[in-house]
Amino acid sequence: MRPLIGTSWKMNLSASETTAWFAVARPLLEPLTVERDLFVLPPFPALAAARAALAGSAIGHGGQDIHSDDRGAHTGDVSGPMLVDLGCRYAEIGHSERRRDHGETDAIVAAKVRAALRWDLVPIVCVGERDQGPAARARAIVTAQLDAGFAGLAPTDLDRVVVAYEPVWAIGEGAAAADPAHVAELHRAIDAWLAARGATTRRVLYGGSVDEATAADLLATPAVAGLFVGRAALDPRRFAAIAATPLPLTRPAASPLERSA
Ligand code: PEP
Repeated sequence: MRPLIGTSWKMNLSASETTAWFAVARPLLEPLTVERDLFVLPPFPALAAARAALAGSAIGHGGQDIHSDDRGAHTGDVSGPMLVDLGCRYAEIGHSERRRDHGETDAIVAAKVRAALRWDLVPIVCVGERDQGPAARARAIVTAQLDAGFAGLAPTDLDRVVVAYEPVWAIGEGAAAADPAHVAELHRAIDAWLAARGATTRRVLYGGSVDEATAADLLATPAVAGLFVGRAALDPRRFAAIAATPLPLTRPAASPLERSA
């Protein structure tokens, strides 16, 4: 399987800084696209700069959110057709910071997933437990998020989604990545949830304090199909180093998700 490795910059990097980031990153990332899928999710005001910087590239870009409606009276929001118009391939949905800062519920996540699918965008849906604790408890929380966020989706729709398992306690400054045993257990559970509902393509990324030191072990963890990187990727050379992590020798098969760039 081609691993999927990407970053969301959150509320970092302006349009000008985005152009400078890609000037460094693109030559380093481009050769990697032969065997892996890469994506970058800049803030909305930098999407046009990302599109320009990525002209002719297989590296995908996308939004950090999407509104469930296609247009209308939703001040400050951005819709699926607007993302498509900017060349986006991905839409991140349900990050824990949006759940925290904007009160996003699983029902809102579900509506946004449908909007992304309607516009042929790949939804990158974030799930994860808030507090560190036993894997069994985390599994129950994540299962409830999947049940609600993907309610009623057909297997063909589930094939198009990417799940990012992001334990909230492992995200951000001062945190450390979850240990591979915990990650393996949660990824197996998410994979099993998708398989039980008929999904044949199952891409489950790990996110939470991924850096150059942890990337190889996490990528080699069973059922981890790729990595979702936050703060370490703000430095283009660090993201390129993580994206270039040597691949484990054997990986389960999956079909590609992306439509052609
Ligand atoms: C994230 O919040 O999705 C994330 C992965 O952040 P970080 O890598 O900075 O922990």
